[in-house]
Amino acid sequence: MALEATSTVIKQCLCGATVAWLMSSRGNVYSVEIRNGVVIDTSGNEAANVIRNDFHECGAYRGLAKFMRNAIDRSGAKRLRVKLLTAANLPVLLSWSEGNTALHVSDGMPYHLSTYYASVNIETGGFRFGERATVEVKNLLEAVDKRPLEAARAYGRATNECCFCQQPLDDERSILAGYGSHCAKKFALPWGTGGENTTKRAKRTRKAVRIDSDSS
Ligand SMILES: [Zn+2]
Ligand SMILES: [Zn+2]
Repeated sequence: MALEATSTVIKQCLCGATVAWLMSSRGNVYSVEIRNGVVIDTSGNEAANVIRNDFHECGAYRGLAKFMRNAIDRSGAKRLRVKLLTAANLPVLLSWSEGNTALHVSDGMPYHLSTYYASVNIETGGFRFGERATVEVKNLLEAVDKRPLEAARAYGRATNECCFCQQPLDDERSILAGYGSHCAKKFALPWGTGGENTTKRAKRTRKAVRIDSDSS
């Protein structure tokens, strides 16, 4: 495929930049930088001559990239799928498989039904939004970038499922973490320690038991 292309879809990216949009061989609409200005073609449409792999970059999610990279490095996993929810409970799937530098962000639906939201470079954090990314998705990715464990916790509370393997969570410590003890071990993440509530409740229970036995 020739690297030179003409895009007639010139519009704003979710990050605010005006960019040219192209269709990838996998059918995802992605954006590239406009370096040589926008012209009006013979049909009166805006057009820009662009380079297919001159990917637009919206910014960098270094915290998010680091979280994913650590999970991959510590587990030696060949693929990683992290399921999260936006503030309005829409599912967002972050998926990566061996040999890629890009983390694929989508709604997690089966392949050709899925909506592509963004790509994040797991080495640098450099990311770009897809054409169908929303402010809600952007807010979630920013939250993951700042506090990935908090995003996992929110997922666990809302679904009682592990954000890594989607297995049901039946232990309160797992629900609090957003992932089960198995995945916590696999990815070397804290588990069973962040639950202040659990500790307090355990103390209360012990106290109650003691009082009971004293009074008997
Ligand atoms: Zn952008
Ligand atoms: Zn799990």
